[in-house]
Amino acid sequence: NAGVFMQNILLNNNLIPVNNIFCIARSYAENLEELGKVRNSSPVVFLKPKSALHFGDSPVKLPHNSNEIYYEAELVIVLGKGGKNLSSKEALDCIAGYSIGLDLTAKDWQTDARKQGLPWALAKGFDGSACVIREFIPVGKFPDPTKITFDMYLNGQLRQHGDTSFLLYSLADIISFLSHYFTLECGDLIYTGTPPGAGLLSANDRISLHLGEQCGEFLMAC
Ligand code: MG
Repeated sequence: NAGVFMQNILLNNNLIPVNNIFCIARSYAENLEELGKVRNSSPVVFLKPKSALHFGDSPVKLPHNSNEIYYEAELVIVLGKGGKNLSSKEALDCIAGYSIGLDLTAKDWQTDARKQGLPWALAKGFDGSACVIREFIPVGKFPDPTKITFDMYLNGQLRQHGDTSFLLYSLADIISFLSHYFTLECGDLIYTGTPPGAGLLSANDRISLHLGEQCGEFLMAC
């Protein structure tokens, strides 16, 4: 898979190698209600390996031994610089661009892991589980990080509408929080969590993702 060796995103026509991939869960109140979960006192964080990245250049091969692959459309941040123990203001200055992606989950594997009190790595980190439109939109195109909206269509039907004004933790607070545990670096991606409407995928489903002027398609294969 040549893609494994090309884990670069595009920003202002520059290729930026992806560093770590952080993901935030349970970050929209309405999504919490759907899941029957309560708000955590701090953001829920997990990671995906770089090998999980998929830019939609080819169909996403869903793992054949899962019967429950869920899609979650999410705003994705790329950092242009990093640091440690950042204030919210400093954290905001680290954002270089935005894209939209899919956090795919093998729910059946996750349920098994939860039952045994084991980590989510397999359920959240398999190849193709971190879909994202490769070309990021420069941060300047979205002057207000609390007013970014995005849409996700499944086979032509609107399924998810995201709006960062409904985030339980602001983008700045998310980055600041992460920086107190991880040294952040240029090329880090952050999946910021999914709004309501996440659901099950089947082979041959076509997902289109829209953020600002950017749109991308992801075809699911088995
Ligand atoms: Mg998610």
